[in-house]
Amino acid sequence: MIPDPQEKSWIDSVVKQDEIDRYLNTDGSDFIDDELIWKNLEKQKNPSDSHIREIVSKSLELDRLDPHETAALLNCRKKYLWQEMSEAALEIKQKVYGRRIVIFAPLYISNYCVNNCMYCGFRRENTSIERSCLTEVELRNEIKALIRKGHKRLIMVYGEHPKTGVDFMSETLRIAYDTKEGNGEIRRANINSAPFCISDLKKLHQVGIGTYQVFQETYHRKTYRKLHPPDTLKGNMLWRLCSLHRAQEAGVDDVGIGVLYGLFDYKFEVMATLLHTIDLEKRFGGVGPHTISFPRLEPAVGTPFLENPEYRVSDEEFRQIVIVLRLSVPYTGLILTAREPEEIRRKILPLGVTQIDAGSNIGIGGYSSEAIEGKKQQFMLSDIRSLDETISELVDMDMITSFCTAGYRCGRTGDYFMNIAKTGKVHTLCMPNAILTFAEYLTDYALPETRIKGWKLIEKEIESLPDPALRLKITGLLNRIRHGERDLYF
Ligand code: SAM
Ligand code: SF4
Repeated sequence: MIPDPQEKSWIDSVVKQDEIDRYLNTDGSDFIDDELIWKNLEKQKNPSDSHIREIVSKSLELDRLDPHETAALLNCRKKYLWQEMSEAALEIKQKVYGRRIVIFAPLYISNYCVNNCMYCGFRRENTSIERSCLTEVELRNEIKALIRKGHKRLIMVYGEHPKTGVDFMSETLRIAYDTKEGNGEIRRANINSAPFCISDLKKLHQVGIGTYQVFQETYHRKTYRKLHPPDTLKGNMLWRLCSLHRAQEAGVDDVGIGVLYGLFDYKFEVMATLLHTIDLEKRFGGVGPHTISFPRLEPAVGTPFLENPEYRVSDEEFRQIVIVLRLSVPYTGLILTAREPEEIRRKILPLGVTQIDAGSNIGIGGYSSEAIEGKKQQFMLSDIRSLDETISELVDMDMITSFCTAGYRCGRTGDYFMNIAKTGKVHTLCMPNAILTFAEYLTDYALPETRIKGWKLIEKEIESLPDPALRLKITGLLNRIRHGERDLYF
């Protein structure tokens, strides 16, 4: 399917070569050094027990690992060491983030796309899906439906298409923030979209974008070329690779990276994720990615590639990926999505995950209209439990659900956030705010059973806070929430 002339001229106008070149090395190479990755994986093939334990101690000090250390962890073959690593992963998460889990909802805005990624249901050549893009009224209905369930944080998702360029996205962000329903509103709207140039990213910054996510899908050049036809916009791998460098330069200092696991060798991809992190840290004053995502391939309508992908990641390998990421970048948020079935989410969550989606629907218009089968959906979700069911289970696991967005509105983003995260202090600010937003959820939206046990958990959490002045302050704010005030934060 060939783009019409108008689309073609739009496609030709997107990539700005100088906004790639400035992030390359003087010899024209980029920061994904394949040779370094393979060399490290080869050299660290048989790590000793003591070497693994040394590396784990470094992670427990909240120091980011170096590539040779991550390679050693990935190559560990001893079950008892993986057990030790999983315990360390949880300990690190508790140190940095406490027993909080941030919850968000994906909101799919449009499935028009000029690209042809072989694994995606939205790809241009897929004629089995129905294309649509939310109108303003439909978007407001979706947002209201999400607010009525108790959501406060969104990740807004778009295909790449001239219909949904940066001005369209800015408008959808504005609508997300100004739509109100009852006591609720959206306080943080993140975006998962295609790469942009710096001037477009400045526009998104101005309208208050939260985290800007662009997944590299695969860092392996040959695989990237195979799965993203070179005559498409996404076929330009370097434009994508530098997208978050451009974002940082445009002032969007919370950025999210990710790999789509199942496209290539997972050990290579974890190593490359670390190199991406290191390059962002090096160039932007120590500020690496705010979050790392690790989606696995899911089936999608009309997408034969997904029937038998060569590099499918097993459940055990998936577990190891999450443990190694947690140990490698102790202070970076880790996102586990509802692509995974609930049993897997239950097992992976305690390995250091900091954010999950819940009550998700990835059909365009799926929250406010009748169930939309696969027709407008990018792929199939596995965990289809409601928000309240998920929160109820988190309470049973002694975890406080956080809808907190205070950090962003107080300017606690980018290097400020990284500094407090790196010194393990996020929870002294964020835990109190998590408790306040959880209390709002319990008061306004929870089912009776969740409400009762949720308040008990809050009381237990407050009792465990060491500082009596803090305890008193939170109790005062909770009383104000009980009396109808909203959006209180530290
Ligand atoms: N179009 C934008 C892009 O490609 O960057 C953003 C939206 S795309 C819908 C969001 C992400 O969905 C992609 O980056 C990819 O990692 C993921 N994805 C695509 N196909 C998938 C599949 N079959 N299973 C799981 N995730 C998939
Ligand atoms: Fe389009 Fe993104 Fe899907 Fe690729 S992954 S076809 S760019 S929506």
